[in-house]
Amino acid sequence: MESEEIIEIRAGSEIVFDSPDQCCLVLQGRVLVTSQAGKQALGPGAVIAYGSQACVDKDAQIAFIPLEKLRRIRPEIADQIVCETRLAELQAIPVEGHGGPKYFFEVDAVCPVCGQTFKGIKLFESKLQQISMDRDTRKHFKDIEPAYYRIWVCPKCLYANFSGHRFSEITDNQKAILKEAIADRIKLLAGQNNLKSEAQTAITRYRLAAEVLERGQFSLDMLGRAWLNLAWIYESIEDTETANMARNKSAALYEQFYLESRSMSPAMEIQVMYIIGELSKRLGDLKKAHQYFFKVAHHKENSNSILKDFARDGIQEIRAAAR
Ligand SMILES: [Zn+2]
Repeated sequence: MESEEIIEIRAGSEIVFDSPDQCCLVLQGRVLVTSQAGKQALGPGAVIAYGSQACVDKDAQIAFIPLEKLRRIRPEIADQIVCETRLAELQAIPVEGHGGPKYFFEVDAVCPVCGQTFKGIKLFESKLQQISMDRDTRKHFKDIEPAYYRIWVCPKCLYANFSGHRFSEITDNQKAILKEAIADRIKLLAGQNNLKSEAQTAITRYRLAAEVLERGQFSLDMLGRAWLNLAWIYESIEDTETANMARNKSAALYEQFYLESRSMSPAMEIQVMYIIGELSKRLGDLKKAHQYFFKVAHHKENSNSILKDFARDGIQEIRAAAR
């Protein structure tokens, strides 16, 4: 630590960071840190993440250390620090762009895995104005991408899932499995790209949710939906390669769900079959696309005429391409 300066800070002062690429090591005294997970008093040896609200409680000596340097000495602590910084960004209500704060409100949420309470972001659904729907059922809204904000992440154990009632619906077995797997979620979060944009933040939320849903063996349609959302977000930042990977995963998961499921409502069946058809078409598997579009177009259930029309159009396009 040749170049790190040791700084003395008086009780009552805030610790101010210059850059997100540094962390702060407490050498002496005591610092009160307020984070998503609550308030903590930290003493010598503690490392504080950028973005933490840190106030010196007892005259302290601290040193700022570049994260890269910390990573070389203690990679696991560096990962934790990165996670804490990113967690704050994951939870924050967007201030600018994406419609601004008027679309959002906060509710009290409880993590079903570790019991941590936190503020979950919710959308005023009544304020959303749908403009259009793509053929792969992606809906577009005025000013905002609601899907970016439909995942909650626990600030303590990084359990992530769709917000609302789904968030707390887990079995004792899933809880036990997910408690064991915290280290993998920390690694995943630390390994994500910088959360410079709302899209990147949304990707991180969905990647954590996908990890949770897969590890906890949640219903395959939920996992398929997480990957479908990821495909849309990757597409929006023009990462076509990863978008196709996500589409592939989603199609495979929905198909497995379709083949294994014993109790699907007709409306749900149409939706799932249609998605498999459309994703297969986009991935170039026209034979499979035709097969599933055909099932949708000839399904006895009369509801969901939009998807039936889309399926008929899809069949026409595949036939035209084959000529
Ligand atoms: Zn938790």
